[in-house]
Amino acid sequence: MVNIPEIFGCNVFNETVMKSRLPKNVYKNLRHTMEKGEPLDTATADVVANAMKDWAIEKGATHYTHWFQPMTGSTAEKHDSFISVGSNGTAIMEFSGKALIKGEPDASSFPSGGLRRTSSARGYTAWDPTSYCFVKGGSLYIPTVFVSYTGETLDKKTPLLRSMDALSKTAVRFLKMFGNENVTRVTSTVGAEQEYFIISKDKYDQREDLVLTGRTLFGAKPPKGQELDDQYFANLKPKIASYMAELDEELWKLGIYSKTKHNEVAPAQHEMAPIFTTSNLGTDQNELAMEVMEKIALKHGLVCLLHEKPFEGVNGSGKHNNWSMSTNDGQNLLDPGDTPMENLQFLTILCALIKGVDEYADLMRLSAASAGNDHRLGADEAPPAIISMFLGEELDAVLKAIEEDGVYKTEAKSFEIGVNALPSFPKDSTDRNRTSPFAFTGNRFEFRMVGSSDNIACPNALLNTIVAEELSQFTDILEPFAGKDNFELKVKELLKDVLKKHRRIIFNGDGYSPEWVKEAERRGLPNYPSVVDCMPHYTDEKNLRILRKFGIYNRSELTARTEIHLEKYSKTRRIEARTMIEMARKQLLPATLEYIDKLCSSIATKNQIGITAKTEKQIAAKLTDLADKFYESIYRLENQVASACKISNVQQQAEYFHDYVLSEMNIMREIADEIEINMPLSCWPIPTYSEIIYNV
Ligand code: ADP
Ligand code: MG
Repeated sequence: MVNIPEIFGCNVFNETVMKSRLPKNVYKNLRHTMEKGEPLDTATADVVANAMKDWAIEKGATHYTHWFQPMTGSTAEKHDSFISVGSNGTAIMEFSGKALIKGEPDASSFPSGGLRRTSSARGYTAWDPTSYCFVKGGSLYIPTVFVSYTGETLDKKTPLLRSMDALSKTAVRFLKMFGNENVTRVTSTVGAEQEYFIISKDKYDQREDLVLTGRTLFGAKPPKGQELDDQYFANLKPKIASYMAELDEELWKLGIYSKTKHNEVAPAQHEMAPIFTTSNLGTDQNELAMEVMEKIALKHGLVCLLHEKPFEGVNGSGKHNNWSMSTNDGQNLLDPGDTPMENLQFLTILCALIKGVDEYADLMRLSAASAGNDHRLGADEAPPAIISMFLGEELDAVLKAIEEDGVYKTEAKSFEIGVNALPSFPKDSTDRNRTSPFAFTGNRFEFRMVGSSDNIACPNALLNTIVAEELSQFTDILEPFAGKDNFELKVKELLKDVLKKHRRIIFNGDGYSPEWVKEAERRGLPNYPSVVDCMPHYTDEKNLRILRKFGIYNRSELTARTEIHLEKYSKTRRIEARTMIEMARKQLLPATLEYIDKLCSSIATKNQIGITAKTEKQIAAKLTDLADKFYESIYRLENQVASACKISNVQQQAEYFHDYVLSEMNIMREIADEIEINMPLSCWPIPTYSEIIYNV
């Protein structure tokens, strides 16, 4: 039996370790830095670094690394040993405050979207003391941000930290109006439910598409899909159970509160949910969790697939980003509260969110955009690409009453929504709508659009910024009335106005239905099905305005980000297309022709002795026809890729990949899948969906 409290966080330089290992004044300085985000003085840094080194060495570390999250989509690390030359050539273990605080990795190989060309090739990493250091695989990991020498952000964490600050500042000001004199810091929180697939390593290795692209580019649907819903919350198979047990243990050691695990809807699909924490730590922990998930799987002869859509026609994987805000005096700002005043505060924040999500739906959408997620959003199992909000009947009724100066009825009572009589309503609205991309779930919002492999920093950074903007607007309007008799009346007027203008973003119906697409269009809500549709809106003036206002991105940083996303889209499709071509030429087509050949020999032999071989002839004819089409498609796809590669404008290139290359890939796949259905299992060169999904 694992003793959870004993192992929990044992590899993390956390609060407890800091307290026990650092001199009191040093600890105090460090805490101050962590809370206020002020720079750490060198003397303190030296003491902290030394204590960290001693602790890390006890944990078996020989190296340290600045750990950062560049725009590649994965994390990056470069390890240096603690070793240093002592007197008489002896080796001593050293770690200075300077080395802890700042590193200088070569920035030139990380995507910068043109920022490198305009500034310097060099970048540096800077310790982020608001996230914890940890030991893993013999190294001390130091969470850092990654910026260029001129201060431009080159990573995913910097904008998140900036947005957390912006949100805190505006929210503190906002909360003062509601009498929260003790609130000095507001922190955005996140709990990211992580979905993933587990398949056998043996089958994985036989699929070049999975190995190179993370998803199957070919594969006919298995006879049994998820129609029986017999996988969801089903018993864990022994292999999976032992994988999950080890995964939990490793995550706990790294201080990640892995809480829930269960089978998901699709066969071979599972989920891990941690207990929520600050957005900053939550982001680091999610990156870490994904890495650990992949590593542990290999130890069990399994492979963990984090791709959004590894299997066509089978549910994809997302990352439900549960988001809220908490104050330093312990309030969850999305908790409706018990008193009318708390209610009023909650309802005002809720309306700020409604306004924000409506005005910046494009930002929300593009915060979850990736080539992989394109296959998921809008398919009838994931939230659609259209942003809308689900509030539940109860809350919706309250808002309607505010909007119409009406009466709010619960089963027990009815309330007149007046200034002093805001209702207290049930906290946990238990009705769930799983088809909504942005759903209120009692004390938080669940943003379900985020892809399973994505870094959650970007969606949270943009969400924080949007909320900061709305709260600051609300504060500007309401501040003159704060503490006055008519404050509540003014709040109500504002909410009424906001609801009138932004009600269109609220949708409680079925987000998967085709009617919703039409209805959303009628309401004027944006629908951007693909990366190439939504990315250009990053730099829309209204978006640039708020991102600049709060110091999240300047114009060149934003242009750079847009470019990086589009480039990544094109690269992903290019790799996929080339992988398809290679598999088609080297495996699928030869296997098909070989089988046709076999059939023909059999037909010839049978003919010699006067047997008709009708079945063989039919299959051979059908396969020959398909093989011809297949070959033509390979040829066309090659040409399309070549044409796409010639385009220099990043937006146009991504569009070409989307409109022509991806379309041809889909055609080619359809042909191949038809061939697969007509081929005997023994002659098909790659594992089928049934073999992969039902095999663990
Ligand atoms: P469900 O599957 O019903 O959505 P789970 O328990 O699997 O519920 O996941 C809920 C997630 O929401 C957990 O990660 C949880 O820690 C997180 N969560 C709960 N409260 C908050 C909050 N205030 N802020 C952010 N995340 C939260
Ligand atoms: Mg959930």
